[in-house]
Amino acid sequence: MVGLVVVSHSAQLAAGVAELMREMASPDVRIAAAGGLDLPDHPLGTDVGLIHQAITQVYSDDGVVVLVDLGSAILSTEMALEMFSPEQRARIVLAPAALVEGGIAAAVQARLGSDVHTVVNEARTALDAKLAQLGIAPTPPVETNSFAPNVPAQKLKLVVKNRLGLHARPAARFVQTAARFPADMRVQNLTAQRGPVNAKSINAVATLGVLQNHEIEITASGEQAQAALAALQNLADENFGDADETPAAPRAETPLAAPSSANEIVGRAASPGFAIGAARLYQPALPQIPTQTIDDPEAEWTRLSNAIRATETELQATHNALIARGSANEAGIFDAQMLMLQDESIQEPARRAIFEQKQNAARALHDSAEQVASAYDALSDEYQRARAADVRAVTRQVLLHLLGVAHNANFERGILIAPDLTPAETASLDPQTIQAICTAFGGPTGHSAILAKSLGIPAIVGLGENILHVQNGVTLIADGENGRVFVNPDDAQLREYTTRIENARASAENARRARNEPATTLDGQRIEIAANIGSVQDAVRAVALGAEAVGLFRTEFLFLERRDAPTEDEQYETYRAAARALDGRPLLIRTLDIGGDKPLPYANMPQEANPFLGLRGLRLCLAQPELFKTQLRAILRVGAEFPNLRVMFPMVSTVQEFHDALALIEIARAELRARELDYAARLETGIMVEVPSAALRAAQFARVVDFFSIGTNDLTQYTLAAERGNPHVASLIDTFHPSVLQLIAQVVQAAHAQNKWVGVCGEMGGDPRAIPLLVGLGVDELSMSPPLIPQAKQIVRALNLSDAQMQAQRALE
Ligand code: PEP
Ligand code: MG
Repeated sequence: MVGLVVVSHSAQLAAGVAELMREMASPDVRIAAAGGLDLPDHPLGTDVGLIHQAITQVYSDDGVVVLVDLGSAILSTEMALEMFSPEQRARIVLAPAALVEGGIAAAVQARLGSDVHTVVNEARTALDAKLAQLGIAPTPPVETNSFAPNVPAQKLKLVVKNRLGLHARPAARFVQTAARFPADMRVQNLTAQRGPVNAKSINAVATLGVLQNHEIEITASGEQAQAALAALQNLADENFGDADETPAAPRAETPLAAPSSANEIVGRAASPGFAIGAARLYQPALPQIPTQTIDDPEAEWTRLSNAIRATETELQATHNALIARGSANEAGIFDAQMLMLQDESIQEPARRAIFEQKQNAARALHDSAEQVASAYDALSDEYQRARAADVRAVTRQVLLHLLGVAHNANFERGILIAPDLTPAETASLDPQTIQAICTAFGGPTGHSAILAKSLGIPAIVGLGENILHVQNGVTLIADGENGRVFVNPDDAQLREYTTRIENARASAENARRARNEPATTLDGQRIEIAANIGSVQDAVRAVALGAEAVGLFRTEFLFLERRDAPTEDEQYETYRAAARALDGRPLLIRTLDIGGDKPLPYANMPQEANPFLGLRGLRLCLAQPELFKTQLRAILRVGAEFPNLRVMFPMVSTVQEFHDALALIEIARAELRARELDYAARLETGIMVEVPSAALRAAQFARVVDFFSIGTNDLTQYTLAAERGNPHVASLIDTFHPSVLQLIAQVVQAAHAQNKWVGVCGEMGGDPRAIPLLVGLGVDELSMSPPLIPQAKQIVRALNLSDAQMQAQRALE
């Protein structure tokens, strides 16, 4: 633990501050006071010997932070430092901080086991809360690294180009990128003159109020400062990962239309679609936040930590479910919420309230989160202001855990009415049960609205309190296209909306009804329609939606967002459960596909200038055979029970890589044999065609693989040399480009010559516009996000193979 020394001209003051520090943090913190002079007639002053003695008393290799009061205290401390060896001196830091506030903050931070750098930083910014209350700009950034006082801070100025500025998701990406580096980083909004703040705190960054075209300055000092700034520059060049397509709603508040009938409540359209159904009132009653104090702060902190962890798990599950569903953009909401929850700006004040004021966990968290939410409330931009709702939502989720309230209410079928819904509540809604969502508050740009859209649930928000007075069970019409709700509709209104709903539903319903029928063209060509999944739940859903197989199990979702890799047994259980859910249908497991845009912190991956051209997919697995073999053993064990198991490797460039992977499968088999476990003696093994070299050498691959699955997402990016997700080259990411189609045609031809089948599992496989083309090119299987399956089958059934072939030929030309 970092040691602390208080240097003051007054022995009483130094002892008093040290006492306060111990009281506020814990008696275990190593604190020594060095105050006054040992002269009865001149007690006020600073003594080099006393300071040396105090530092020696608390010294350890973790370092020492010295807090001083005025003038000669600094000089005396610097002289005392001369008495230590250079190595020891490098570990002793004079904190540029206010004595009392800084001392207390440093003690609390030291108690957390933080390093010297963090302790100093905490001490240095301890006055910020007081300054903010007084309306004064907070502490400027540290210009040097504490352990290397002569290394100047590096700076980077950027103009933020995102349409919505650094709102929650780009801010989350900013913080995640900054947090990858050990450097101390601060960021300020030069245009709005806000900050500097900690660049690794989501709430601090997001409340800088950075709007489009605002200039920000990032200051980095310490280890890897340069690399950190370069990474942030890259992120900014990539528009902070924002496609800027959400929210689709207009930014300016448009006045609400007047109601056209007495039974109409007007709000804002948030998610399209219509519904007629019974009102289902959802009043998520959060019990009163208790006010009583507690006796055991350690136990209370543990309780809070557990509730936070439970909420993180829920947020993670929602995040993963959205990713697996192909809604990566919406999943980003939960990334941001997780960061908000983990943020020091929420946790640290709560921790202090528990330890210093003996507040109960619920009260402590509520109050500290409310402070942060108010900072968002104060922002001028409507969209950024709306992030206060995210802070409150995520806090509410923790509070529900702390107060023992179940928040996954079971709804009866109908139209849900609520004051507002958190994104997590929205994401957990079942579109089969909830016909529409009507909220009193919230805006069309809120994350709940975005999620409702991705779930296909019509939503109207901002209906005002009147909607909450609607009686449970009365009939409602929800019009998500025009933002209106009709309470107890009359016959004419019911007739009008019944027709609208019927028309909209008719085609979707037809497809859904026939979802279990095969997809055969009018002239008899059967196409296998398979699902892309990321979890066992997806496999269940896929079967319900008519999937004939799983054409892509993205296993990396089992590996991401964890501290270490899943064990062989964990993987075995998951793959086995997925195979069971498929009830005999083929399951195609793709081996770990990380690297590129999916880094894996514990995989010890190198920093790469061009990660998409680096150690990705199979390349990384071959470089880390233990990680790879663990997965292969789990797959082989499941293959012993389920003969319909297939395996494929991502990002294959050469035939040699495929042979190397097969060799590792053999080794994995031998290892299982040695452990006397059952394994698949034969496993269908194929490759993803994602790299042009694999497509160009398809004839050579066709002799050794059992099948091909074309990953058109990556194949397009590598064929056109345009990074997927990079908005600057978005127009080049065209899966319909003849160059991509030509490679697909070439793979099909080479595969069929050897009687091997070809699937397409990139997004193109489920794209209604692409399906005729792919069928015409001769693809045997299409694999897609499960909800797309019924429609895809319908499209295939309406096709004539010979027409599709002609269309494909024209497209190739
Ligand atoms: C692809 O690249 O098309 C593919 C299906 O893989 P992923 O999108 O997971 O990279
Ligand atoms: Mg891919």
